[in-house]
Amino acid sequence: MSSKDVQTILDKTLGGARLNAEACTALLESYDVARIGLAADEIRQRRHPDNIVTYIIDRNINYTNVCNVVCTFCAFYRRPGAPDTYVRTIDEICAKIDETIALGGTGVLMQGGLHPDFGVEWYEDLLRTLSAKYPGFQLHCFSPPEIHNLHLISGLDYETIMGRLKEAGLYSLPGGGAEILDDEVRQRVATKCTTDEWLAVMRAVHKVGLRSSATMMFGIGDRIEHRVRHLQRIRDLQDETGGFTAFIPWTFQRENTALGRRIKDEPTGIDYLKMLSVSRLFLDNIENLQSSWLTQGLRLGQVALRFGANDMGSIMIEENVVSAAGAHNRSDEKELRYLISEAGFIPQQRDILYRHVNRPEAVTPAPVAVAALS
Ligand code: SF4
Repeated sequence: MSSKDVQTILDKTLGGARLNAEACTALLESYDVARIGLAADEIRQRRHPDNIVTYIIDRNINYTNVCNVVCTFCAFYRRPGAPDTYVRTIDEICAKIDETIALGGTGVLMQGGLHPDFGVEWYEDLLRTLSAKYPGFQLHCFSPPEIHNLHLISGLDYETIMGRLKEAGLYSLPGGGAEILDDEVRQRVATKCTTDEWLAVMRAVHKVGLRSSATMMFGIGDRIEHRVRHLQRIRDLQDETGGFTAFIPWTFQRENTALGRRIKDEPTGIDYLKMLSVSRLFLDNIENLQSSWLTQGLRLGQVALRFGANDMGSIMIEENVVSAAGAHNRSDEKELRYLISEAGFIPQQRDILYRHVNRPEAVTPAPVAVAALS
């Protein structure tokens, strides 16, 4: 496709027309990434004219690594009965929350493997204990595969489960476990919930009045057509429910994974930026797009802010899942604020629902040693 044809698609989108699947495919097949990025930046500016880029202070707590399904892209899980399995105690989880609060954190993202023995009551007890001890602290927990696992264990439908977890103190749901929402890909790489089941869990989440994020992990043997179908499914559900707060695409991290040993192609920085900017253009009903500095490195994560992202994600005090697969990037609040301001934006802490959080001690530092950035 010529640059002129790409520009024609972009002009229509900038003029307010909805990007369709065919045009979306054409953009993802194109190498005109700067042109596409410019359009995504323009749409990002229209949606967020205040020139603010947000970030959140939280941590990922993985309450267990026991998992009774197999995802060939995962380096985190352990089979039930394996010698190095763990389940975090309440005291251990509370210690992690205390540390997060001390750093100015507003919540935690808590997820785990699909434990074969934990019913809804186990999750209710956990949520009740934490919400009683930390009132107002946001518990952003349990991805759709975990909810589907609870459905298999308890026999309860998704909406009943979500209603009970909300009642017990669940604040919102992370959009993990989406990978590529197309069964042609999912069935090759995982034995967990199907595309329709993932979407049905999210529909139930939104129906009980909770919000959630949506994610995409690409580079697991998917082709452009699968990525387009993924975007289409997310956009369609958002048209129906309006419950997604954000979309977060990232690339497969291959270290220590069975799939990583098999797959030869790996998405490049250009693939990532193109996917991010096309997501901004296609998902015209989702307000926030997050840069994945954790998987792309801090430098590319910063560049992503000019390719459609308006959020730098979490300072990630703790992360265990993609780190196990080779994403070793690390940062802190000062560094993220510095990177955001050096991209020409105003850094702003937010909570899980993207509401601004103001702490007097959150200041943007003078230039930091960029050489130290990964
Ligand atoms: S990605 Fe999640 S569901 Fe899949 S094996 Fe890992 S822990 Fe289990």
